[in-house]
Amino acid sequence: MESFLNLNRNSKYRSLRIDWFITLEYLKENEKALETSFWTTRKQRKKIQRLIEEILTIEQCKKSAFEVFKNWKCVRCNRKKETFNHVWMCNSHKKRVKEILQRAIELLVNEIRKLSKYEINFDDIKNVFNNNHFGKLVIDNDNLTFIDIIKGIFPLELSDFLSEKIKMIKEDRIKVSVLFLDFIYDETKLIWNDRCEMQIKKEKRLKINKDKKLKANGSGYRHTEINGGISGRSTFKKAEGLLNSIYFNMKPLDFIVHVIRDIK
Ligand SMILES: [Zn+2]
Repeated sequence: MESFLNLNRNSKYRSLRIDWFITLEYLKENEKALETSFWTTRKQRKKIQRLIEEILTIEQCKKSAFEVFKNWKCVRCNRKKETFNHVWMCNSHKKRVKEILQRAIELLVNEIRKLSKYEINFDDIKNVFNNNHFGKLVIDNDNLTFIDIIKGIFPLELSDFLSEKIKMIKEDRIKVSVLFLDFIYDETKLIWNDRCEMQIKKEKRLKINKDKKLKANGSGYRHTEINGGISGRSTFKKAEGLLNSIYFNMKPLDFIVHVIRDIK
């Protein structure tokens, strides 16, 4: 986890207020510590890939098959480079992503009401999102945005609201927060699936197959040109601390002590 936080692209996560406990619960997929097996579920792997921005966007594909994809743009709008952020920001789907946030807030309120223990006003929780960057679909290197929530990052501000204003006990708060993140994961996954279908069709039309991609990997490997030398594969390696905490239940929150000490 420390390594994950030390990545340049994650620098903002070192200083912002994040409820890492909920994020890790969401990543664990309700697995009990004793039942944790070496092999994680497919969904768990997909969630981690998303957290570390390793989904196969065009910009990612350029790292392994540059010659094939060098001039390719986002398959949905054909205008912009398809980065991780663009997947959710693309004009063709922006409205749909924003609607997912609204429905996720409704789900959160409904789940809290279902518990029949707490009083919650829909407008109050809506204001928490309206008054914070994490309620906005924007790219921001200094604040949490809705894209971070899509990655599985849970804002501490929202946790505080649930525990201090709604007076939720820890157990309930974790339960509804993980449901909230899971809902967003499942709904945004549909957007990604649609995009992948379009991409596959395009590649078939242009007769791009695995062989072609492998060949491109051998002949034109231009990693450093694209991302300044930060290899996508090494990122995976660097997230091993996070993976260990999930695979082997290695006290995932220990790292926070170090992070807080660093900030001070
Ligand atoms: Zn696009």
